[in-house]
Amino acid sequence: MQNHSPSIVVGAGIVGICTALYLQEKGREVMLIDRLPPGEGTSLGNAGIISVGSVHPEAMPGIWKDIPAMLLQRQGPVSLRPAYLPQMLPWFYSFLASSSEARAEKSSIAINALSSRALEFLQPLVAKAGAQALLRQEGSIYVYETPAQLAKAKLKCAYYDRRGVDHEILEGAALKAAEPSLRDGLAGGISVPAGGNTLSPLALSRSLFKLFQKQGGQFIQAEVTGFTTQDRLVTAVHTDKAHACHDAFITAGAYSKTLAKQLGSSVQLDTERGYHLQLPNPGIELNRPLLFSSRAFAVTSMLDGLRLAGTVEFAGLKAPANYARAHMMAEQAAYLFPQLNTQSGEPWLGYRPSMPDTVPVISRSPKFDNVFFGFGHGHLGLTQAAVTGAMLSSLATGDELLNSMVSSSSVQMPMQQFKIDRSF
Ligand SMILES: Cc1cc2nc3c(=O)[nH]c(=O)nc-3n(C[C@H](O)[C@H](O)[C@H](O)COP(=O)(O)OP(=O)(O)OC[C@H]3O[C@@H](n4cnc5c(N)ncnc54)[C@H](O)[C@@H]3O)c2cc1C
Repeated sequence: MQNHSPSIVVGAGIVGICTALYLQEKGREVMLIDRLPPGEGTSLGNAGIISVGSVHPEAMPGIWKDIPAMLLQRQGPVSLRPAYLPQMLPWFYSFLASSSEARAEKSSIAINALSSRALEFLQPLVAKAGAQALLRQEGSIYVYETPAQLAKAKLKCAYYDRRGVDHEILEGAALKAAEPSLRDGLAGGISVPAGGNTLSPLALSRSLFKLFQKQGGQFIQAEVTGFTTQDRLVTAVHTDKAHACHDAFITAGAYSKTLAKQLGSSVQLDTERGYHLQLPNPGIELNRPLLFSSRAFAVTSMLDGLRLAGTVEFAGLKAPANYARAHMMAEQAAYLFPQLNTQSGEPWLGYRPSMPDTVPVISRSPKFDNVFFGFGHGHLGLTQAAVTGAMLSSLATGDELLNSMVSSSSVQMPMQQFKIDRSF
């Protein structure tokens, strides 16, 4: 039985909004709190891909050999601000430790357990919100420019095979036929037909948020600064005033680390900053999102133009943006798409909330029985938002969904993988 206080969800990004909706499904009264308008944090600017076929952790076996070259390229896909290195070292250490064959396999199973069910949990919310026009289901293609890149990517297909994810290797001509606006002479691609994309991540968040309000949800735009606790319970969430709560959900993306700390849990969450450049008059239209792994960015046609989104920058939450990284994607895209008009691109910076093993935290707090954590989705937060919301709501209300998720995944998935206090 719920007392008269609401469930409070801290953070109205895509993960928080989906969590709030799944709590409403369970009959909860819900209050969402965010210092920004809903959906305007990192969830605003992603590439819009719902990567149902995601099975590869970022920390793949052998990654350590690629890192120096990635960091040394002037317009490289990954950059590190030297001043941030000391703070980042423990995260890097855990990242490398996660890249053993055994650990990467474990992460792959966990990622797949979430991503493979992304649409199953997102579509009902989207349908209820009347926002189906914002979803497209044409899959996506990973593009490889050289035969060496394609050969290396083919080796990684064993992960698709083990997880049962459909995929097709496209040699150069087949790739060009699938996406005619790509330049001639690229080596090929790997098409993953499952999943799709949204035509506007912000419009999607706003539609879902509207549904939340229509169903009686309250929204407060304010900074959460702390909590009132009593024994193993949180009794109030603080902004400029205290809001009594039945239970609290921390879905604050990359900022969740500070809030978790206030609740007595330290977590190895950091941010892989990423940029986008939105091109309003691109002159080309893609049939589906294309991902350029060696450049670490994706290209997606959206309602308001073509979005180039990606790259990784390790610089924490406070360093100023380096929008040259957004514009460098335009230079590279102009090479990949000869007809592309890169004029008037609008740059944006976002903060991926990243765990070293690519597996998010979806867990009850070890310190407080009525606090639940849902953060750390890294490159896959849009994809995994709805399934996370469903899992958190079932954790909080004690229903069977979690158990059924574990047993229905193709390989037994240890729930320990999603725990906040899992060891790296
Ligand atoms: C360039 C780029 C491309 C990407 N492409 C994809 C993609 O194609 N597919 C995919 O699945 N994922 C993608 N991602 C990842 C995805 O965008 C994120 O994982 C996801 O948006 C995280 O959602 P969230 O709700 O956890 O965080 P956010 O959207 O950041 O929401 C967290 C919210 O919490 C609020 N908040 C934080 N602290 C407080 C506080 N103390 N008080 C009040 N409010 C607070 C913030 O204001 C924010 O609105 C991409 C990310 C980037 C950067």
